[in-house]
Formats: sequence, structure tokens, C-alpha cells
Amino acid sequence: MSKFWSPEVRELTPYVPGEQPRERLIKLNTNENPYPPAPGVEQALRDYPLDHLRLYPDPEAAALREALADEFGVETEQVFVGNGSDEVLALSFQTFFRQDKPLTMPAITYSFYPVYCRLYGIDYRTIALDDRWRIPLQALDGESGGVVFANPNAPTGHGHGRRAIAELLERVSDCVVLVDEAYVDFGGETAIPLIQHHSNLLVTGTFSKSRSLAGLRLGYAVGSRELIEGLERVKNSFNSYPIDSLAIVAGVAALRDREHFDACRERIISTREQTRRRLETLGFEVLPSQTNFLLVRHGQQDAGQLFTGLRERGILVRHFNTEALHDFLRITIGTDDEMDSLVEALEAICH
Ligand SMILES: *Cc1c(COP(=O)(O)O)cnc(C)c1O
Repeated sequence: MSKFWSPEVRELTPYVPGEQPRERLIKLNTNENPYPPAPGVEQALRDYPLDHLRLYPDPEAAALREALADEFGVETEQVFVGNGSDEVLALSFQTFFRQDKPLTMPAITYSFYPVYCRLYGIDYRTIALDDRWRIPLQALDGESGGVVFANPNAPTGHGHGRRAIAELLERVSDCVVLVDEAYVDFGGETAIPLIQHHSNLLVTGTFSKSRSLAGLRLGYAVGSRELIEGLERVKNSFNSYPIDSLAIVAGVAALRDREHFDACRERIISTREQTRRRLETLGFEVLPSQTNFLLVRHGQQDAGQLFTGLRERGILVRHFNTEALHDFLRITIGTDDEMDSLVEALEAICH
């Protein structure tokens, strides 16, 4: 605490990201991809003329937005890009959710959303998940300043199909509905086609998980022109160049390689389902997942002790110290070898 801080800064409770350890651990705590980015990314970075780093990047990041527009079958003007989807989310909260009515979000979802609410002074209310840890979409109504949730949701892993999102949009048309699709490539269904008929739908996504580029910081939003124009206004009042020149070429190269993308996500999905069966054999309850992580709990073992036991064996997972989630561990899907080590370590701890 310092007297030099603005009053609001004294009141902030920042988001705490998963640990990035300096020692070599099997890292299953922040949902990174265990496989390298597409080979074309390395080539694009090698080919980049270093002399061009003298110049500011394209403030519009046009090449990247065009590549994303191609990928999703939309117009370039329907795509916004940012320095990680966290930045895109922050700008979205500022652009759309500072309303008289409170924002609505599920009680369990990405824990950065309440942090943005406090940063921007946004009032919010939460909707409890149902008894199977799903977001009850029918409980989200139009009497809000906005609606936000992750789909598939984090850290539960459950995802709703496009049809369910369409039904929500039939009811909620007077405020922005933000669907955070950080994990959609691991078995979810994207809502992006719905933007053509719903000007209040904003879908965000990231290169951090399914495209193995968490270190590059690239995220995007897809929505109607009016929503994207609003985001541009706020972005251009804050930072004209959130995407650097190297990130633009690397992002374009990552989007070009569909084969690598499909191969990596299929491997992760198959490893996930194999890991699910092995953990169930060890006595874990494993929630269904359309993501690159599993949320698990053990009837007899304390999650905090499991976390510590794994850490002692060189494996890092995520334990949330909240009332709703303290029985659970969230385990990122790594390579098959990494999951072998995880299962062996859990066997040793449980016996
Ligand atoms: C990882 C994650 C993000 C942030 O992704 P970045 O693009 O790396 O900032 C956003 N939303 C959810 C739900 C996530 O899990």
C-alpha cells in the first residue's frame, strides 16, 4: 500500500495467474499446449527482416485480422485482435459492460471476470451452476447490463452447443452477450456463425491454448461491425499497437497450418479421454470435459494434500482455494508421457 496510489488502486484485488516455475517441473497448471507451435511459425520468425523492427507495427494488424476473417468466414471488420484474449476481454468489459444495470455471469467461471469488474467499477451478479456443474443458460436474462461466460466453461470443462447459445440470444438482445471460447477447439462448438444474426454477440478466442502460442500473447474477438468498432475506439484510446510485428507474422503462420492444428488438438483430446479413464480407476470423480484440462476430485483424498504430494514429485497442477472448488484439482492435459508420470505419482500418493 502506498500513499502515491490512486484511491481505486488501493481497492483492487488483482488476478493471480498460475505459477510459472523456474525449476523444471511437469507443468499441468495453466492449460498451455504441450506441443510446439506450427513449424511455419518458426519459419516466419526466422524470415522476418529484423530491420523492420525499427518501424511501428501495423496499428490495424490487418494481415492477422484478414487471416482470422478467412478462418471464420466473416469480414475483416468483424474481427478485433489484442495482446492475449485477456486484453481483449478487459477492453470488452470497458467498452460494453459499464452500464446502469449489473453484468450477469456464472458463479463459477473464469476468475478474471470479477477482477475486470472491480477495475472498471462494474456491478455484477452471479448465477449458480446446476447440480452437474453446467451453466443454466435459461437463468441468464435480459435484465442485465451484459452477460459473460466461458464456453466451454473454465474450470469445469462443460460446454453448451450452438443451439443453446442461439436460444439464449433469442431471449437476450438488449445487451452484449460475450462468449469466451478460449477452449472451444478441444471439442466445443463455436458460436461465431451466430454473429450474422445477432449484433449483440461477441465471441472471444485465443492463440494461447490450441495454437501453442501462450508466450506470444494473441487473442481476438469476432462480432458485428458495431461491436468491433466500439472495441477499436477504446483500444485506440489506450494503446495503438497492442500486437507487435513478430506476433502478426507468427499468428498468420499459425492459422495457415490446419494440419498441425488438427493433429495437436486430436492428440490432446485422445490423451484427455485416456487420462479420464485412468483417474476414474484411481477413484477420482472426473467432470466431463470439452477442454484441454480435467477437473477432478477424490472421495477420500484431500485436494490440498494431493497438490502438495504432486508438487513434491515434480508435478504442478492447479488447486483453487475457493469454497466451491477446494475439493478439486484442475489438471492440464500434457503429453502421454507427462500423463503417465501424473498417474504414477497419484497412485503412489493414494496408496
Ligand atoms: C486462458 C484463458 C484466457 C486467456 O487467454 P490469453 O489469450 O492467454 O490471455 C481467457 N479466457 C479463459 C477462459 C481462459 O482460460
